This record gives sequence, C-alpha cells and structure tokens, in this order.
Amino acid sequence: MRRKTVTVKIGNIKIGSDYPVVVQSMTNTDTADINKTVEQIKALTLAGSELVRVTVNNNAAAEAVPKIVTKLDKLNINVPLIGDFHYNGHLLLKKYTDCAKALAKYRINPGNVGTRHRDANFTTIIEQAITNNKPVRIGVNWGSLDQQLLTDMMDENSKSQSPLDAKDVMINAMVESAIRSAKLAEDVGLPHDHIILSAKVSGVLDLIRVYRKLAAEGDYPLHLGLTEAGMGNKGIIASTAGLSPLLLDGIGDTIRVSLTPKPGGDRTQEVQVAQQVLQSLEIRNFNPQVTACPGCGRTTSTLFQKLADEIQTHIRTQMPVWREKYNGIEELKVAVMGCVVNGPGESRHANIGISLPGTGEAPKAPVYIDGIHAQTLKGANLADEFKILLQEYIDKRYDRN
Ligand code: SF4
Repeated sequence: MRRKTVTVKIGNIKIGSDYPVVVQSMTNTDTADINKTVEQIKALTLAGSELVRVTVNNNAAAEAVPKIVTKLDKLNINVPLIGDFHYNGHLLLKKYTDCAKALAKYRINPGNVGTRHRDANFTTIIEQAITNNKPVRIGVNWGSLDQQLLTDMMDENSKSQSPLDAKDVMINAMVESAIRSAKLAEDVGLPHDHIILSAKVSGVLDLIRVYRKLAAEGDYPLHLGLTEAGMGNKGIIASTAGLSPLLLDGIGDTIRVSLTPKPGGDRTQEVQVAQQVLQSLEIRNFNPQVTACPGCGRTTSTLFQKLADEIQTHIRTQMPVWREKYNGIEELKVAVMGCVVNGPGESRHANIGISLPGTGEAPKAPVYIDGIHAQTLKGANLADEFKILLQEYIDKRYDRN
C-alpha cells in the first residue's frame, strides 16, 4: 500500500500516491550548450524518463532554459523540465523570468542557498515559485546539510541524558531541515500541494532510515534516490538495495537512480535501471518481462544462450514499434528456459514460453501459450519460428492503439 500523499502537478505529470511512481533523470551536459542538452533530454525521454532535471547554475544556463524548451516543443517532446538551483538560485530566478516560467518545477537544496541570508534567499525562490505557480522540491543532501542546524542539534544531543550517536543526529537533522523548509515555504504562501521532499544520502542503510523518518512526517510526496550511487554494478546494486525496501513499504512517489556513467557512456542507463527496479518489484510495467533461466550443466552447448539472447534482443528492438501499436504490451511475459527441469513449469506461467532441449533430451522445444502446450518446435530455425509465434500471440492478444 502506498503511503498517502497529496498530489503535486509538474507540468502534465502528477506525483503522489494516487498516481504511479514516476521515473525521472538528470542531464549531465552543460545546460548552456543548448543542442547537446536538447539531444540528451530527447534520449532520456525516449528511454522513458517522465521528468528531466537540468542544472541551472549560472546566467548562461538560465538564458538557455527557455530556448531548450522551445526546441523540445518543436520536436514534440513534452517532458516537464526541472531546474536544479543552488547558491545563486534566488538571483537567477528573479533575473531570468523566462527561465522561471519555462521550468515546470524548481529544486532547492536548503543547505545551499547561502549562509548569511539563508532564509531570505530561500524565501525569494519560494516567492518566484508562487508568482509562476510552480511546485518545488526541497531536496536536502547529507553533503550540504544546513551546518547551523546540525551544530545546534549536536549540541542539544550532547546535553541529553541518553544521547544518540552522531549518525542518528545527522539523520534527524536532515528530516528536520526538510520539514522546516517546507513549513517556511508554506508560511511564505506556497500551497501545500506544491511541495515534494527528498533527503539524499550515499549509504544504503542511511537512505532507508532517513526516508522512513521523513515518510512519517506529513503527506508531502517523496522523491527517492541514493546520492552519488557510483559507477557500474556498484551504483546499480546500491540503488536497487536502497530503493526496494522503501518502495515495497509504499514510500516514494518519484525515483531517480544517480549513476555515474563512464566517459562517453550512455546516460539513459539510469532510466533503464529505475524502470527495472519498479518492474522487478511489480510496481509498474515498462517492458515485456523475459524470464530466462541462468543455464547450467544441463543446457546443450551455446544454443540456449544464443536463443535467449536473440529473443531478448528481438523484444527490445521491437518495443518502440509495439508500444505505439499495441495497448498493454508492456504486461507481456515471455519465458525462455534451458531444459525440462524448470522449463515447462516456468513457460506455463508466462504468456508465451519456450522450453529448450537440455543435454540428453530429445531435440525439440515445446512452446506454451497462456499455460497450455501449444506446439513443439524442432530443427535449426527455433528462434525465427518462436518469433513468429510471439508476433501472432501479440496480434491476437493486444488491442491496437
Ligand atoms: S531450467 Fe534447466 S538449464 Fe535452466 S537452470 Fe534450470 S536445470 Fe539448468
């Protein structure tokens, strides 16, 4: 069951417990480089990102934002853009009114709005959000936590009869900072349903602890994500480990997986991982699910691996076409199994499944459709014949859009 929240509208996307968990991503281009940024936003959107955040860190970036939105409109890409503001956000939003209007949401980190006039700067950003009727994400980050608040809470803790350990105080300070800032924003006049909260840390267990605490405070929708998750497997696994228990508890209304790509790497990987986390937890479906057994000593040579790979690649490359053509295609479940041990059973649980012959088994591959043995394929063209059966199944089963 989802934790109950209000609904926050970000352009044409609604965030909150009455709506599916939304996948978002962030560009890593220089926002002032309009063409590169548009190109990356397009790639992220095509990969399935429903919101895209860009950094607005200087005058050139703020000037570029409305031009980026105009270019995206011309390409018929309607993804809402979020502006990420730090030390000079109050100045940029006041000076570049077209930027303030073009963005669909502002992200503010209360620890990074200046030290001397923190509340005044924060208030200026909130006033711009009110003037332009934009929601904000108040995004606390452990690396830039309001140091005065943390010091005060540490001092208070040291005087307590049963002091908490420093990590607990830090987690409490993050929650306190987010909630205080949200209340301040509401006092300035920002409507309650214009606020999303996040409290990002880089440790998996800290993430789970801080979000459980934050979730208990009010009904603001929550943006989940591990900050600085890292590169490659480490980033993917740590993000999945951190997000999953929270999502299974119904906590989290939008997610971002912050992976560090290799130089020249594919930025859209963070979208694919976020989608796969939600799909694996059966929270949302984005692509047909292919169940392939891992293979073991019972599989014959490389036939199984090749077939499993060929069918998965076929589904992935056809998906953009199928998605346009067939309603509900993302619910499809396909099984490609290596032998008789688990093959027929797993294939029966899929919409369509094939059980390949293992070592020593007769060279034939039964195909199961909706749990019933439909036919048995033989010979060298197993993959092509299975693809034809798959297409026939899709044509029959899914309504055309
Ligand atoms: S289905 Fe057969 S080949 Fe695949 S892992 Fe199980 S025993 Fe091994």
